[in-house]
Amino acid sequence: MTGPAIAREDLASLLKWYVDNGLDETIGEEAIDRFVPPPPAAARAPEPMIAQRPAAPTPIRPATPFPARAPVPLESPQLVEDARELARRCATIAELEAAIRAFEGCAIKRTAKHTVFADGVAGAPVMVVGEAPGADEDRLGKPFVGVSGQLMDRMFDAIGMSRERDLYITNILFWRPPGNRTPTLAEQAICLAFTRRHIELAKPKVLVLAGGTAAKAVLDTTEGIMRMRGKWTSVRLDDGSEVPTLPTFHPAYLLRTPASKRQSWLDLLALDKKLKELGIR
Ligand code: URA
Repeated sequence: MTGPAIAREDLASLLKWYVDNGLDETIGEEAIDRFVPPPPAAARAPEPMIAQRPAAPTPIRPATPFPARAPVPLESPQLVEDARELARRCATIAELEAAIRAFEGCAIKRTAKHTVFADGVAGAPVMVVGEAPGADEDRLGKPFVGVSGQLMDRMFDAIGMSRERDLYITNILFWRPPGNRTPTLAEQAICLAFTRRHIELAKPKVLVLAGGTAAKAVLDTTEGIMRMRGKWTSVRLDDGSEVPTLPTFHPAYLLRTPASKRQSWLDLLALDKKLKELGIR
């Protein structure tokens, strides 16, 4: 990098400022000016395609009472269709995992260290879907293993549930978005095609959606998590099955806002009650 020489102590204080503001890793030598508008679509390199197929069918909407999202105008609707078609062809969770690991249609895979697929017991009664892997998950290749995952483990432990026995855990995204940014709607739509099939194949008795991004994506709604949390709804999957679904706060939000743990505790009690009603506990 060129530019005026900066004193060592100024650099140290700049670095500290970055760290204090959550910038905890470097991803390139050159700074990127994110305010420069992207080049016109024609000038951009084409995104990888699997095959040309007819236009996407209208997705089956989940059976939720929350306001529906308008269809996302995607740059590459074909990628969503490719993901959906690949996912549909998978007859087992192992096949789905292999298909996701081989999938090159989501650009964030290129900046991630690992594909983060799932943890816990496939086929467990409760499936938890979060947003996206963070730095720890990317490093270890497993969902919810960082501080927020540890809080989630302690919360489930409080109602006698563990990922070793009762939970199957995944995210809507299988790759860490750079710098933990919120996944774009296009990234969500592509990965969601796999996640919806993941839910079909795992056949949980109950789905728990951790945080607003996962809840909005899976329930295809504009409703915020503040309104949705603690309200039972259901997700209708493409195979016609319906899964009782509970949106709840993301554990990372609870770490920032401990006062909201009380509401999350109520959600856990509601989950426990539902499992008992279903004869699972
Ligand atoms: N946050 C998520 O949503 N998922 C993880 O796996 C980790 C943190």
